[in-house]
Amino acid sequence: MTVIGTGYLGATHAICMAALGYEVMGVDTDSDKIVKLAGGEVPFFEPGLPELLAKALDSGRLRFSTSFEEAAAFGDVHFVCVGTPQLEGSHAADMQYVDAAFEELALHIDRRALLVGKSTVPVGTASRLAGRVRSIAPAGPLAEVAWCPEFLREGFAVEDTMRPERLVFGVESAWAEDMLRRSFDPVITPDMPVVVTDMATAELVKVAANSFLATKISYINAMAQVCEAAGADVQDLATAVGLDSRIGKRFLRPGLGFGGGCLPKDIRAFTHRAEELGVGHAVAFLREVDAINMSLRHRTVDLVQEIAGGSVAGLKIAALGIAFKPDSDDIRDAPALEVIDQLRQLGADVRVYDPVAMDNARAVRPELTYCDSALGAARDADVVILLTEWAAFREIEPAMMGRVVRQRRIIDGRHALDSARWRAADWRYKALGRPA
Ligand code: NAD
Repeated sequence: MTVIGTGYLGATHAICMAALGYEVMGVDTDSDKIVKLAGGEVPFFEPGLPELLAKALDSGRLRFSTSFEEAAAFGDVHFVCVGTPQLEGSHAADMQYVDAAFEELALHIDRRALLVGKSTVPVGTASRLAGRVRSIAPAGPLAEVAWCPEFLREGFAVEDTMRPERLVFGVESAWAEDMLRRSFDPVITPDMPVVVTDMATAELVKVAANSFLATKISYINAMAQVCEAAGADVQDLATAVGLDSRIGKRFLRPGLGFGGGCLPKDIRAFTHRAEELGVGHAVAFLREVDAINMSLRHRTVDLVQEIAGGSVAGLKIAALGIAFKPDSDDIRDAPALEVIDQLRQLGADVRVYDPVAMDNARAVRPELTYCDSALGAARDADVVILLTEWAAFREIEPAMMGRVVRQRRIIDGRHALDSARWRAADWRYKALGRPA
C-alpha cells in the first residue's frame, strides 16, 4: 500500500501499517519531510511513533518517496491523507491538495487499484473524484475510489490506529470492501465494528462526529458562563450531568475550548457544505457552537484582567502551554496563541513555555519570549495562566512556583488543576464558572 501525504495522519498511518506487516510506501510533496522520515525522524511530536518508525524502517517494509509514478507502480491500495485546511477568506475546505493528490496519482494508475481517501472532506468529494479518476487513469474503471474517514486523536495516534473504536468503509463495490478489509485485517477484531456504507455517508460520518464533539465542548462552556454569572460551580455541574449514562462525562470539561487542525475547520466546512446543499438551516447551530468556542479565548483574557485588578498593561504574565492540546506539538488554531496575542496587545509582558510546541510556535511567533521551563516562565510573574493541560503542569508544586512569582495569582484556563492545592498554598485561583 501507499500513503499519500505524510503529515500527522499519513505518517502515523504509514508507520503503523508497516509495523502491522504491510509493505508501505509513504509519499509527500514536501521533500524535507520525506528525507526526515526516511532517516528515522518523525517530523512532529507523537508519543510512541519514533520507536515504531525505527522498527518499521529496520523491517525493510517501509520506504518513502516523492514520486507519484513510483507510488502508482508500487501500490495496490493507496491511502490519500493530505491536508484539507480552511480556505483563506471562507469557511469552505481548501480542496486543492486532495484534488492534486488524486489527480497526480491517477495519471499513473495503469492496473487495478483502490484509491482510498482518508482526509476529512465535504460530502460529495469522493463521488466527484471517482469520476475524475476513472476518466484520467490509464486503467480507466479499474481505478476505483473508496472513502475511509480517520478518527485518530493526536497524542493517542498510535493506539487509535492499532486499536480503533470502529472502521468506516465507504465503498462502491464488493471488491473495494474486500480490499479495505484486507488492508485492515490485523486490526479488525471480532468485537471491533466495521460500518460498511456508501461514500457520501462515510464522508459525513467524520464531520458529524466532530460536530457532536465540538457541540459537547461548547455546551459545557456555555454552562460555565452561566455558572460564572450565577455564582455556581461548573465542575460540580459537569460531574453531575455527566453521571447520566445517556450523556457521559467525556468531553464535558469546561475551559478554553477546542482548536487544532480539525474541529474548528471541520465544523465550518460542514456548515458551508450544508449551505451549498440547501440545508444550511439544519446545521445553523454549529455557527453558535463555533462562536461560543471562539468567545472563550476572549473570556479567558477577561479573567486574567479581572484577577490582575483591571489592567494587564506592564504586568508579567506566565503562559503555560501553547499546543492546542497536551501530548501534541500541533499549534494550528491553538487557543493559547490567541490568548497570548490578546494579552500582548493589552500591554502585558508574556513569557511562554510549552514542553514540545515551542519550535512550531517560534516559526509563526518569533517575537514571543520563550522560556525553558514552567518555573522559568513564572519567575517574577504577576499572573500565571494555564493554557494547555499538560500532565507536567498538573504536577507543579504550588508552593514551589509560589516562591518564584511576584504575585500568587493563577488562571486555570483548562480546569485542569486541583484548586484546593493551589489555594492551600496561598494562591488566588480562578477558573471560569467556578466560585472565586
Ligand atoms: P498535515 O498538514 O499534517 O499533513 C498533510 C500532508 O500532506 C503534508 O505533509 C503535506 O506536505 C502533504 N501534501 C499536501 N499536498 C500533497 C500532495 N498533492 N501530494 C502528497 N502530499 C501532499 O495534515 P493532517 O493533520 O495529517 O491532516 C490530514 C487530513 O486528515 C485532513 O483532512 C485532516 O482533517 C484529517 N484528519 C487529521 C487528523 C489529525 O489528528 N491530524 C485526524 C483525523 C483526520
